Amino acid sequence: MRGKALKSLRDAIECEKLAGVDAIYISSGKKTEERKMTFDDLKESARKCRECELWETRTNVVFGEGARSAELMFVGEAPGRDEDLQGKPFVGRAGQLLTKIIEAIGLKREDVFIGNVLKCRPPENRNPLPSEIAKCSPYLLAQIKFIKPKVICALGKFAAQTLLNTETPISKLRGVFYDFHGVKLMPTYHPAYLLRNPNEKKAVWEDMKLVAKELGVKIPDKA
Ligand code: SF4
Repeated sequence: MRGKALKSLRDAIECEKLAGVDAIYISSGKKTEERKMTFDDLKESARKCRECELWETRTNVVFGEGARSAELMFVGEAPGRDEDLQGKPFVGRAGQLLTKIIEAIGLKREDVFIGNVLKCRPPENRNPLPSEIAKCSPYLLAQIKFIKPKVICALGKFAAQTLLNTETPISKLRGVFYDFHGVKLMPTYHPAYLLRNPNEKKAVWEDMKLVAKELGVKIPDKA
């Protein structure tokens, strides 16, 4: 019965549009058992998901972590090796750099929510396939719906192009806000890219200052 409920849940999520929907309901098959979906339901659904082939090679589903009422949400591409092993987002060197970026604008990692477009690692970190994005994006949309962030920061070309449905290079996208279903979205470079191209840290800092201003966060003097 639980499996059936989870399948219904995912079906429900797939049918929902982010805008204009107040609640997503799940059902175990009997109308009397219908109830509002919780964030934990969503997480459990993702944990058991086999909607695309990535379930076969994953070690862990990386649902994302952080404050459920975060005003700032970071969205990356997909879990890498470290993330797949630990089941947590952004835990490698790029993750450490992301933590420093968050702290530089006066927030803590636990103040924000960090997730990815895909919840399972593509083998050898290959680019996500369009079919995988289509299968997995309802989870991200539902996460955004639950969290209701003020600002989404799309990390890197892949997340930015996917969320904005464009092929414009990240170098042209970054630096300004876009509307994403009523939420302000700032594209910026991925921390892994910054590790290879430290000269671009200044550009990310400019983007993050705009994010901090939008959130009304005072940047510490030492930053
Ligand atoms: S990547 Fe997404 S859609 Fe594919 S199995 Fe994992 S959770 Fe399901």
